[in-house]
Amino acid sequence: MAKRKKSRNGIIIKTPDEIAQMRVACETASDILQNVAKFIADGIGKTTKEVDLYAAHLMEERNCKSAFLGYRGFPGFTCISPNIEVVHGIGGDYVIKDGDIISVDVGITLNGWIGDNATTVPVGNVDTETKRLLAVTEQSLYEAMSFAREGEYLGDLCGAVADYVKPFGFGVVKEFVGHGVGRNLHEEPSVPNYRPVGKTPRLKEGMVLAVEPMINLGTPRVRILDDGWTVITEDKKNAAHFEHTVLVTKDGPDILTTRPREATPEQLGITL
Ligand code: MG
Repeated sequence: MAKRKKSRNGIIIKTPDEIAQMRVACETASDILQNVAKFIADGIGKTTKEVDLYAAHLMEERNCKSAFLGYRGFPGFTCISPNIEVVHGIGGDYVIKDGDIISVDVGITLNGWIGDNATTVPVGNVDTETKRLLAVTEQSLYEAMSFAREGEYLGDLCGAVADYVKPFGFGVVKEFVGHGVGRNLHEEPSVPNYRPVGKTPRLKEGMVLAVEPMINLGTPRVRILDDGWTVITEDKKNAAHFEHTVLVTKDGPDILTTRPREATPEQLGITL
């Protein structure tokens, strides 16, 4: 039995056959995320628990399982994080209201492969600063993914998030990071949203990364609530989170969880 091909630093290189299977899981994760995002956008008056149960229903319909439920004891099917919650919020009795932003993270397992993606949904009339935060955060994800090309350094991919976001004055969360993904939710390497200190590996075709900028309107500092999961901003200002699972290729990024993107900062006339 052949040994699995790994790069020196422990980052798993997926074979074309494995990538084909992973693509199906990622397309399913994307389809569920897009449906949940629509549910949230039209969800004034609904609770975040209802959102989570809707996602669970979609997973059952598509014969896949939540990759989060039970992970280190996580109690939800998805992570649902309103407003000041950065990531890892748990669906509960919070009622969605006009002007909210709701981050939703959908990770699923299908035939042994993970698809992981997230977006932040504006509900109704969102204030201008927060709209700016959403557009800039999603753009920072694309800036980072543009380095998902064989031969680029992982550090340049990570650094692209902070490099893009910082001039806008937003806070880049440091305590939580993106990750390699495949058969397991969290594989090597860590993918921080800032340039790591020291030498980082070169990316190779077949590596799959979950890139996920977590960006705050104000301070980058966060704290964890007593539930042991929910991450909130220390200054209680809004936070945004966007994520894709992306395959590194010789020709650049292949976004496995692809979905139509929101308007770019440029399209919205957002400048520094
Ligand atoms: Mg992730």
